[in-house]
Amino acid sequence: MTPLLEFRNVTKIYTKGLLSRAATTALDDVSLKIEDDQPTILTIAGESGSGKTTLAMLLLGFIAPTHGQILYKGNDITRLQGEAKTNFRREVQAVFQDPFAVFNPFYPVDHLLSVPIEKFKLARNRREARDKIDEALNAVGLRPEDVLGRFPHQLSGGQRQRINVARALLLKPRLLVADEPVSMVDASLRATILESLRNLNREYGISIIYITHDLTTAYHVAHSIIVLYRGSVMEAGSIDRVIREPQHPYTRLLIDSIPWPDINRKWGQTEIVAREQEHGSIETGCKFASRCPFAMDKCRQAPPPLYRVAPEQAASCYLYDAQPVVARERLSEVLPVS
Ligand code: SF4
Repeated sequence: MTPLLEFRNVTKIYTKGLLSRAATTALDDVSLKIEDDQPTILTIAGESGSGKTTLAMLLLGFIAPTHGQILYKGNDITRLQGEAKTNFRREVQAVFQDPFAVFNPFYPVDHLLSVPIEKFKLARNRREARDKIDEALNAVGLRPEDVLGRFPHQLSGGQRQRINVARALLLKPRLLVADEPVSMVDASLRATILESLRNLNREYGISIIYITHDLTTAYHVAHSIIVLYRGSVMEAGSIDRVIREPQHPYTRLLIDSIPWPDINRKWGQTEIVAREQEHGSIETGCKFASRCPFAMDKCRQAPPPLYRVAPEQAASCYLYDAQPVVARERLSEVLPVS
């Protein structure tokens, strides 16, 4: 079956204007697939500058890859036309970090919900439009009478973000890109929003790409994870394996820096000391070499391939060079869908 979404060896390089030769590789040879008949929640995790937001922008068609292809239902998204383009715009929705930014402060929140219904002609009359709005609000745990008719400033950040999710749901998307959706929401409301996302996946069969720097929320919401560092995949696999048994030194650093009460392990066991970047060979080898306490000579000579360190886990690190290599195009084979 044709995948719903496919990244084929996607690289994105930013240059600083026509005359400058300075270039930054924001995403480096990333391949992944979301199957059409297996709705899943995949986390893309990393620090600032890891390439995770670039991946979201590419996926939504806001920017084009420098190399490689992004296919939606088998069609290159940079070449979509007519009905296929309209369907892509409707079926791939996004929820962004700031729950306030998408609202117009001069309109009640009803406006945000009725615009997509009109734009995509989703209802035949006002009664049907209202029924759809009620259904979407209920699906994210909001009571229509609590929020409709109110202005954005009269609602909490958590309510606003759930209205954003409801807005996406109105369009019956197949894929939702959630870019740091709870990072600006009070901690007490995060669980409710994350549960709304899980509900969309379970009840409505929507696949979700959950983009975050926060592994705690990723653990609660996702089935699988890809950890990026400076645009490259460092580790990938089932969320349980990667969070509980991280193998790549970078993932261990990320996880070790979070005091996480839900995980049954001691923190601070792994001593990773950031090293100054060394001049010269770093770009030709492992991108993490300047920070890695295990760096060897060969780490600086060529980038490590992905090694399969468990049935549902792969790490790009020479510490595992006795394990079988996973071709980057086949990364999805280590990502469980449920
Ligand atoms: Fe460290 Fe080498 Fe593994 Fe890179 S490949 S993470 S430098 S041990």
